[in-house]
Formats: sequence, structure tokens, C-alpha cells
Amino acid sequence: MTTDFYHLLISDCALAAVLLGLFFYVSRVSRGVRGITAWGVAHFVYSLGAALLDGTSQVASRSGAPGLAHAIAGLGGLLACAGLVGLAWSVIQFVHQRALRPGERALMPLALALPLGGWLLYGHGDIQDAQGAAMSAVEVFALAVVIWQLRLLRAGPDHVPARLMMAACVALLYLYGRDLAHALTGRYGPNPSWVNADLSIWFMLNFCMLMLASFRAAEALRQSALLDPLTGALNRRGLDSELRSSARFVTLEGGLAVIALDLDHFKAVNDHHGHETGDQVLQRFSDVVRGCIRSNDLFVRLGGEEFMLVLRETSPEVAHRLAERIRTQVMSLEFPAPAFRVTVSLGIAHTRYRHTGFNDLVRLADEALYAAKRNGRNRVELRMHPAPVL
Ligand code: GH3
Ligand code: MG
Ligand code: MG
Repeated sequence: MTTDFYHLLISDCALAAVLLGLFFYVSRVSRGVRGITAWGVAHFVYSLGAALLDGTSQVASRSGAPGLAHAIAGLGGLLACAGLVGLAWSVIQFVHQRALRPGERALMPLALALPLGGWLLYGHGDIQDAQGAAMSAVEVFALAVVIWQLRLLRAGPDHVPARLMMAACVALLYLYGRDLAHALTGRYGPNPSWVNADLSIWFMLNFCMLMLASFRAAEALRQSALLDPLTGALNRRGLDSELRSSARFVTLEGGLAVIALDLDHFKAVNDHHGHETGDQVLQRFSDVVRGCIRSNDLFVRLGGEEFMLVLRETSPEVAHRLAERIRTQVMSLEFPAPAFRVTVSLGIAHTRYRHTGFNDLVRLADEALYAAKRNGRNRVELRMHPAPVL
């Protein structure tokens, strides 16, 4: 091993540290997109482990410190394998945006058993091969997992970086497959020219992952601009965006319902219990509504204590039942110290007529809501569009 090669491994670790900072930054900007920081940390740990195993342990060995070389190779193998499983984990989290399942978590102890066994069982002469075999085997396995997961990223801008990453992983599979064969036949030893190719491919992988992470961050920011921060309901911009992306809105067989909701005497709640309590009422009210609707129904905060529901494929009977359920559940909410309750009025507009304009339906829902207020509040009124001929 030449000094140049050793410096190459050290500079790779320094690059991994810089990338870790960048991944951490993108993760913070994206507010909770899963898998981004995990990738940066895992890649850094893997780079460090590989540099210890392939570089530092050999330097220690040549400078006449076999015990130290043994320990560094053992630790390097362990870190490299942990980093590799971390990379597979981060891609699973990133692609599915969910926590790891128990079977996936179990990959870590399984993968660490190999280098741990190598460390404990092999002496100074053989540990390089043992750890090299362990690292190469886990590399092959982790890359296979990464390729399998990345195939799911087909939509939108993710497509190009995901395909590039898959191609890069296939190239790495070839390199590490060779390393594994060499290690198993007692000839493990990194080939500097292959390592150059290897590091360039990893650089490209990181670059593509950073691209994917930035796309997700931008999407997360776009989504948050469409939501009301207090209640989590869509804001007007979010409603407009949903309406634009649903061109077939009123061409549905089941009909379309718009429900206007307005809390009763909400100003009095603020006046008697304070603005903060008023905010809590808005949040708990929103939780009730979300608990009653389907996942593809739109829940919008139009402003203040005025909300709207847009229900596709919904009959007037179903819309009315839903409105009544919301009304009774809101009525039974209890707010403490000093105890009080709130009520809500709801106006439903329904159409089965595909040419009804959305704004006409909203206007009709508002009329129904005002009728509910006029008729005593805490009630539901329904209007059909076009009005039935008597
Ligand atoms: P009605 O039964 O006729 O609907 O009477 P109301 O008092 O509910 O209606 P009004 O429109 O007079 O009052 C709405 C109040 O909502 C006034 C405003 O202070 C309050 N409000 C608007 N936005 C917020 C908010 O974000 N938080 C809190 N706490 N109050 C808000
Ligand atoms: Mg009100
Ligand atoms: Mg109002």
C-alpha cells in the first residue's frame, strides 16, 4: 500500500464528513423527511471503517505494531458493516417514509456478527482477509437491498437520480463481488486503481442521494405552504392546488358535496377564555373533523373559525350523516377550567350535475350555513344544486 493510497482513503473520510454536514442541513430544511441524515451518518461510518481496515491497520502493521493493527482492522470491519446496513436502512426509510420494521432492524446484529466473529476468531495474520470478506459480503447484501428499494422511485424528478444510483450500485456489486472472491481465497487487498473507481462511484451515489433529498425537501416545503400551521387543514392555496389537480371533479357518479362549517359564538370563546384557549378549540375541532372524514376528502381552513369540506363520490344522505356526526362530536367536546363547550353550524351543498361550477356550490353551502345560523345554530342545513323542482 502506497502513502498516496492511504491519503486517498483519508481524503475520502474528510469528504464523507463534509457530505454528512450537507445531508444534515438538507434534512433540517426538509423538516422531518426520513432517511436523509441517516444516509449521511451511515456513509461517514462506512468510509471511516473502510479506511481503518484498508489503510490504517496496514500502516500500523508495517510500522511493527501487530496488536494495534489487529484492533484497528477489527474495529474497521465492524464500523464498515454497521455503516453499510445503515445505508440500506436509510434508503428503506427514504423510499417509504416510515420507521423501520422489526425484520429490517434485525439486519444490523446479523451483519455485525460477521466482523465481530472475524475480530475474535482470527489472529494478526488472517484478520485482514476475515474482515475483508465480512465487509465485502455485507457490501454485496446492502447494495442489493438499495437497488431493490430504489426501483420504487419511478415518479417525477426522482426517476433520473434513482436510475443512476441503481446503475452505480450494479457497478459496485461487480467490484465487491470480486473483493469477496479474493478475500475468501486469502488474497484480500484493495487494488488502488479499483479503489479510485470505487470512490468515484460512491461520490456519484452521494451526489444523486443529495439530489433526491433536495427534491423531497422542496416537496415538503411546497406541502407546508399549502397547510394551515395551527390546525393542519389545507389553506386556500392548498384548496386551489387540489382543485387544479382534480380536473374530473364533478364528473363523478356519486355526486359532490361541499360543507361549510363555522363555530358558533367563537368570538365569545376568545373573549371569555383567551385567544390561546380559542386556538386549542380550533385544534380539537379540527381533530374531530379529521377523525370523521375519509383520507381523500378535502378539509380546508378558509380563515378564522370558518372551514370547508369537499367530499367526492358522496350522496346527500352520506354528507348529511357525516355533518351530523361532526356536529354531535363537537358538542360533546369538553374544555376545562372553567368548563365550557362549543357548537358548530354546518351548511351542505350537494350536486349530481356534472356542469355545476365549484364556486356556485361553495356559494350554496354558505347560504345553507347562514340558514343554519339563522335557525338557531348548532344545526345542519342541506341545499341541492340545481334546486329540486317542486
Ligand atoms: P357566529 O356564531 O355568528 O359564527 O359568531 P362568531 O363569534 O363565531 O363569529 P365572528 O365571525 O363574529 O367571530 C369570529 C372570531 O374568530 C373573531 C376572531 O377573534 C376569532 N378568530 C379568528 N381567527 C382566529 C384564530 O386563529 N385563533 C383564535 N383564537 N381566534 C380566531
Ligand atoms: Mg362563528
Ligand atoms: Mg365566522
